[in-house]
Amino acid sequence: MSSPVDLHSHSTASDGLLTPAALVQLAAERGVRVLALTDHDTVAGLEEAALAAAAAGVLLVPGVELSATWRGQTVHVLGFGIDPCAPDLAALLDLMAGERLRRAEEITRKLERAGLPGAEILRDVLAVTPRPTRTHFARALVKCGAAHSQAAAFERHLGRGRPAAVASHWPALEEVLRCCLAAGGVASLAHPLRYRLSAGARRELCADFRQHGGLALEVACGGDSPDRVATAASLAARQGLAGSVGSDFHDPATPWNQPGRLAKLPAPIQPIWLDAAFPARAAEVLAA
Ligand code: MN
Ligand code: MN
Ligand code: MN
Repeated sequence: MSSPVDLHSHSTASDGLLTPAALVQLAAERGVRVLALTDHDTVAGLEEAALAAAAAGVLLVPGVELSATWRGQTVHVLGFGIDPCAPDLAALLDLMAGERLRRAEEITRKLERAGLPGAEILRDVLAVTPRPTRTHFARALVKCGAAHSQAAAFERHLGRGRPAAVASHWPALEEVLRCCLAAGGVASLAHPLRYRLSAGARRELCADFRQHGGLALEVACGGDSPDRVATAASLAARQGLAGSVGSDFHDPATPWNQPGRLAKLPAPIQPIWLDAAFPARAAEVLAA
């Protein structure tokens, strides 16, 4: 169950626990030959990852996981082969970094109101990242003893309907796709089954995604059961979308998200990395 292609991973540039170089090293050891680094709303880890990949004989696909809003809900768009310096994408990422700080301050206020040491938690978070994710807050809540695990931190404090839940204001899906494409990238809708949507709304999301230039669905994610992979594959087939696969690696301690630990893409689905529009030489690398 090891895939030579893994198109979804996080480093310390966002909420991953390994540096970009250490992540590339681990992926190489696990037999990954085509790796996309897709940190949340940032390209800050790509340079280090590219250097490490060249040394390890891995093809690094420059990627990003972009937060977007669709019908009031947050969805994630994976961009592959993006030029990290493209002006529209850079402007979008700047805007998102600002939104992350605004959201972090709001979470902090709500934690304080709930009787937790919000300011101390925010200091902890900002000591490790300039672009806080909720995962950073969950880790800080564990560290200060307010939760015994990251999952518990979401259940008690940060998750939907909890005291420190905040709404995020991400750019519209259409705008996020526009910037991704303008940066020379191709886009896959990350973990399409993880959004709280009815089956009908999920199909509409996929149709909108495709209409605005999206190319694929992430059909196999780390830890997905064969049933889930089959469901996502039929969704992709129905919408005429290609497929991507990605572990969503964050942490060496979660065995189901290790680099390359992925189900195979079901046969009728076109792998995005073999699509003519895919910007990296993945086909060549995999054939060698
Ligand atoms: Mn994450
Ligand atoms: Mn995601
Ligand atoms: Mn992710």
